[in-house]
Amino acid sequence: MNYLPVFLKVEGRPCLVVGGGKVAARKVRLLARAGASITLVSPSVCDEVAAAVKQGTVRHVERRFQDEDMADVVLVIAATDDAELNQSVSELAQRRRIPVNVVDSPALCSFIMPSIIDRSPVQVAVSTGGASPVLARLLRARLEGFIPAAYGQLAKLVDEYRQRVKDRFADSEHRRYFWESILQGRVAELLFAGQEVKARTALQEAIDDTDAHYGATGEVYLVGAGPGDPDLITFRALRLMQQADVVVYDRLVSQPILDMVRRDAELIYAGKQRDQHTLSQESINQLLVRLAKEGKRVLRLKGGDPFIFGRGGEEIETLAAEQIPFQVVPGITAASGCAAYAGIPLTHRDYAQSCIFVTGHLKDGSVDLDWERLAKPAQTIVFYMGLHTIPVLSRELIAHGLSKDTPVALVQQGTTRDQRVFIETLETMPELPEREQLKAPTIIIVGEVVQLQEKLSWFGKEQ
Ligand code: SAH
Repeated sequence: MNYLPVFLKVEGRPCLVVGGGKVAARKVRLLARAGASITLVSPSVCDEVAAAVKQGTVRHVERRFQDEDMADVVLVIAATDDAELNQSVSELAQRRRIPVNVVDSPALCSFIMPSIIDRSPVQVAVSTGGASPVLARLLRARLEGFIPAAYGQLAKLVDEYRQRVKDRFADSEHRRYFWESILQGRVAELLFAGQEVKARTALQEAIDDTDAHYGATGEVYLVGAGPGDPDLITFRALRLMQQADVVVYDRLVSQPILDMVRRDAELIYAGKQRDQHTLSQESINQLLVRLAKEGKRVLRLKGGDPFIFGRGGEEIETLAAEQIPFQVVPGITAASGCAAYAGIPLTHRDYAQSCIFVTGHLKDGSVDLDWERLAKPAQTIVFYMGLHTIPVLSRELIAHGLSKDTPVALVQQGTTRDQRVFIETLETMPELPEREQLKAPTIIIVGEVVQLQEKLSWFGKEQ
């Protein structure tokens, strides 16, 4: 973080604006919305500032800026078109430790102004650290669409009932569960639909309902995080990520995805390196059970899809046996994610009528596959965990009838910014891992469809 985001209280406090043009007018408008007591220093002012002066929103000092203007203020904004003046205002303010913003000159600012989505009392501020106000504005526009206009009203309602809810639920966990259910349930929907009276009644009923139970029944969400690109997770995954108490995650879950988890959630790493288990499968199963029994909402976050080479089945079997509620959220599996981002359709009318997913790594370390069934014409084979058995895969597929020229794609860290795609043949692929220092996770796609990559690749491709 290059800046610390904060929300500053300026209500009733003296703030200084230097400059009287259109930009200054915009800042005056903003400060006025936050209730600041504004003084504006400028020999002349534009119409909008003049109107604000007339309305009494701002006090106008009609001359050039002088040092004493900064005597008692808590905030300074310089918005003149005189670079020298802006600079000296900034220096003086910084010497006096008064927060100062010089419009469009990040180097002269001790604070910068974000783009704002205002649903007061809810406010969302977007900043690019001064890098691009336009980008901040675009982001803001997207967020505007996401946040219902009535969010402000919702926040006011919560504020009003806060004490009552506090009295009703002594335990802070229960309170949090209660509010989560209210804010995502009927009360919020009624408010968004403009039915405030009904919303209030429903909220009061929820508070009075002594039978209702909030929290303390733990559950487990077994969630697929997709192959790496955070854009590829599902809405449901995102929602659960933001309400989990504990997140037990794998090595394959990328950092940008972990960054989207609720900030207060506890993170537990249960990753496995090949041949080096951080937590044994059995202890992961037991951990999930224990956390859920403590009443926690446990998010078991796995790379790709939890039911494809993810041992998701084993984990929920234990949960089912212990009668712990769970739900499973599918994710985009590495085969589809990597194939799409590499530009390789896994099936194609001309090249492959079937596609088979297999693991190249078996329990006892050997690769004991049904080679006859794999080495079929017009079939795409996708090997997961095959990086260390490439020579075996190559040898056996050729031995069982596939041409040594069959094209093969190896996709390392697919769908991420570090994605690397290599096109080889069955015959040449054994040399690749060493030559290119391949590392996990890498997926191997074998079959005629790989030819299409040349035409169809798009991701990370420079013109
Ligand atoms: N449940 C996961 C698979 C776990 S097995 C899923 O559905 O995708 C782990 C193997 O998946 C790795 O050895 C690798 O072969 C493959 N894999 C997972 N993510 C990958 C990625 N981003 N790029 C390439 N291969 C990946």
